Amino acid sequence: MNPKWNGQFSCFDLVAISSEKNTCRTRTVVKVRDLEVGGNDFVVMAGPCAVESESQLLRTAEAVAQAGASILRGGAYKPRSSPYAFQGLGVEGLKILRKAREATGLAIVTEVMSEEDVALIAEYADIMQVGTRSMENFALLEALGGCGRPVLLKRGMTATLEELLRSAQIIAVAGNPEIILCERGIRTFETATRNTLDIAAVPVLKAVSHLPVIVDPSHAAGVRSLVPALSRAAVVVGADGLIVEVHPTPEQALSDGNQSLDFAEFRDMMDDLQPYLNLQQGRRQLRSQLLMSGGGD
Ligand code: PEP
Ligand code: MN
Repeated sequence: MNPKWNGQFSCFDLVAISSEKNTCRTRTVVKVRDLEVGGNDFVVMAGPCAVESESQLLRTAEAVAQAGASILRGGAYKPRSSPYAFQGLGVEGLKILRKAREATGLAIVTEVMSEEDVALIAEYADIMQVGTRSMENFALLEALGGCGRPVLLKRGMTATLEELLRSAQIIAVAGNPEIILCERGIRTFETATRNTLDIAAVPVLKAVSHLPVIVDPSHAAGVRSLVPALSRAAVVVGADGLIVEVHPTPEQALSDGNQSLDFAEFRDMMDDLQPYLNLQQGRRQLRSQLLMSGGGD
């Protein structure tokens, strides 16, 4: 462990690995229905940026499930940069998500933007998503402490890893240790991509924290052609999963169409990831054998 990281993050004692002695602490495995995020499986969450209609979501749910995703994403409450953009279907969207879960068996991840919506969204969601713009909405983080659902905490687009872990600590102190961290790209001087995927964030977070870490290649890239390459990178650096935007007709999407894959593109990406996943699986098995025999992480 790099001593700089250790000192920097150890104050967040519920989410960080705080000393050499603790490096063998068992990693947090977040259970989502019958899935384990942060365990041996690589968990893919996929679906549209926003729930737009029942047929859009059900078609997408079936396609992503067939391609190997196990969690369906879709925003019913959307944090939009413009007040004139589509703001999401609200409760109607949550009901459509529930239908998709019943139809496909996929678990549901959806965004919560306000502490006032926590109880309602927790009735429908299997994972509560905190978006990049809400990472420091402390009232929301505190309310999620008692929501009874795991939280997917996305890194703020201008947040350091220390600040990300501070937000995770707030949720944990408020009573909820079931947290999944998400690297989704940060703001840099680069303009060729929507955000800059901080790929080093994954191994750093895995070294300093016991929480699962997933990657969102879609919001990092901003353009669909880069999503498969960033997803491969995420697997190779040891991420526990992905959250990917998929839409039946991306060019007609009400939000984030440019970065959404269509069904065939998603299927191809999942197929192409397989050899990399097999390698990662082998490394994980080796690591757990080493840990069981008293070796290092
Ligand atoms: C989203 O997942 O659709 C989203 C708005 O993500 P982020 O908060 O990372 O921008
Ligand atoms: Mn989006």
